[in-house]
Formats: sequence, C-alpha cells, structure tokens
Amino acid sequence: MQAARLHGPTDIRLADEPGPPPPGPGEVTLNIGAVGLCGSDLHMYETGRIGYTTVSKPVILGHEFMGVVAALGADALDGEHQPLRVGQRVAVEPAVPCWRCELCENGHPNLCPNHYFYGLFPEDGALRERMNVSARNCFPMPDALSDEVGPLLETLGVAIHAIDLSKIRIAGSVAVLGAGPVGVLIARLAILAGAAQVFAFDKFDWRLRMARAWGATYAYNVDDCDPVDVVRDLTGGRGVDVAIEAAWADHSVQQAADMARNGGRLVLVGIPPDDKLQLQHSVARRKGLTIMMSRRMKHTYPRAIALATSGAVKLEELVSHRFTLAETAQAYASNAAYEPGVNKVILRVGS
Ligand SMILES: [Zn+2]
Ligand SMILES: [Zn+2]
Repeated sequence: MQAARLHGPTDIRLADEPGPPPPGPGEVTLNIGAVGLCGSDLHMYETGRIGYTTVSKPVILGHEFMGVVAALGADALDGEHQPLRVGQRVAVEPAVPCWRCELCENGHPNLCPNHYFYGLFPEDGALRERMNVSARNCFPMPDALSDEVGPLLETLGVAIHAIDLSKIRIAGSVAVLGAGPVGVLIARLAILAGAAQVFAFDKFDWRLRMARAWGATYAYNVDDCDPVDVVRDLTGGRGVDVAIEAAWADHSVQQAADMARNGGRLVLVGIPPDDKLQLQHSVARRKGLTIMMSRRMKHTYPRAIALATSGAVKLEELVSHRFTLAETAQAYASNAAYEPGVNKVILRVGS
C-alpha cells in the first residue's frame, strides 16, 4: 500500500509499504478515506518536533481521519459500545488511553499517562491506504455527513473541549485569539453556548469573514488594531469573561490575559513553537485569573457528530483545499505557506 512518511523537517516521501496485519482483539482495519491537516502536523513538518517530542525515525502523520471498516478483530465495539460492521464509515478519535489508570478511571482519559496517539511520533498516523485502529476509538458517521467532514470532527472535538473548560455563561462575553479552524469553531460554539459578545481576532481577513459569517459579533485583523484596546473599548473597560487563545500561543497569551476581566478565565489551546508560556505574572495574579490548559478532548465525538449533522456547525464550509495521498508533500507545503484562503486542507486517500 502507499504511505506518506515524514523523514525530517519539510521532507515527506511517498513509498510502497506492507499493509497492516489482521486486526487483533478490540481492533479494526480501516480503508482510510480522508485525513485532515492540522496546526500540530505543521509543527512536526516544519521543525521535526512537537513540544518535547522529536521525530527520530520516519513517521506517518495524520491524526484527523475517517475510514471504512474493512476487517473486524474480536470484540470490535465502537466508542459507544456498539458492534462495528464491515463497510461502516467511521471517524476516529486519535488518542488511545489505557482506560485503567487513575486518570482514566476518574474521567480524564485525555490525561492518561499510558496513552498513544495516531500520527504522533512514534505512533504512525493515517496518511496511508490502510491501518489498524482501536475499535473503541471509532464513531460511526451518519450518511448525512460526507467523508471530508470526518477529519473535522476531531477539530470540532478540540473546540468542544475548550468550550467545556471555558464555562461560558448565557449572555457572557468571549474573546477568541486566532480564527484558524479551531478558533473559528470555538467562536461558533461560544455563540451556540449562549455568549452575547464574541470577539474574533486573526491576521487573515478570509478567516475573519468566516468568523463573522458563523456568528462572531466582532472580528478584527490584529495587523490593523491593538486587540486589547478593541476589547477594552467595546466592553467599557471591563474586559471579557473568557479569553481563549487558539493561535500560536506567543504574545497572544499575554493579550488574552490583558483582555480578560478581573476574576475572568483564560483557556489556552494553541501550541507555541518554542514550547514556552509567555505571561506577565502580575497581570494574571492581580486579576485573579483562572487559567485552563486545554488538553485534547474527552468523548466529544458524539456531540461533534450531533452538531455537524444538525447543521449547527457547517464543517464542510471549513474545507478550503483538497489533495490526494500522492500529493501529500504539496499539501503540506501549501498549508505551511498560508496561501490566501487556506482554512482546512483535506487529503483524500481512498477512491
Ligand atoms: Zn489536530
Ligand atoms: Zn489511562
């Protein structure tokens, strides 16, 4: 089968590789259908690292994906404990926790110390024609959702988890820094969660247009304004209840803290390239901010599927570029260059 491996920074090569072995107990084999490209993939592509994980041998990227069940191992039960069937289209939660440790047992599988993650070194991801995955990580997709929406259920899951942590209250105010796919989904969910004022900030106008179209009450280009001043002016000097950082987590973390009201909440979703959190202590302390670090998601797929199916979140509108598996290197280069209009890049793997 064909597989695309990252060999080092910006070096992706397509090669023929053996397919997966028959699925073991609790596993299924998937024919991969669609894979999304995400900011964390771009980090690995550009630097060969993410956080303190370094890619020391070639790895297959791709953690946002869907596929069609091709073979079943014993006891192949999906994420809602239902038997999977051959031919079913499923979206896959990429983190596989142990389900047995203290954190898993306490309802925090996203913090499991024994987990592995498809597409994060050393575990291979979905940029290949076939792979075995944990059945429990599979969530069947309704017919109403197209294949290319499948990978975006992961992105939406990240946004849902951030919103859960934000504890947005009805008629509250929220600022979202960064209107990439995760940020614009967070802005949309903030509206759905009842926020009256939602500020979106980004440096690309096409993203801000989408944030406005999806309900953000204010959308500003950070190159044209001081975002902290904008929030101060439009909230009468008070600041927002919740500030959510969903960009590159550089000076935008400080801006989020500067925008939050006294006693407000920061939710940090973005991942900084230099692995450093930049925050002036006195601002956070004097305001008595609550700072939540958002770590992936927990069992968000059923809600993500419900939001996408009802049309409350129009995931397909986020897809801006489509490539095939053979064009993986081109897809990464295009996304890394932030070509105008780029939102979500989807790689089609199956026919
Ligand atoms: Zn992702
Ligand atoms: Zn665990």
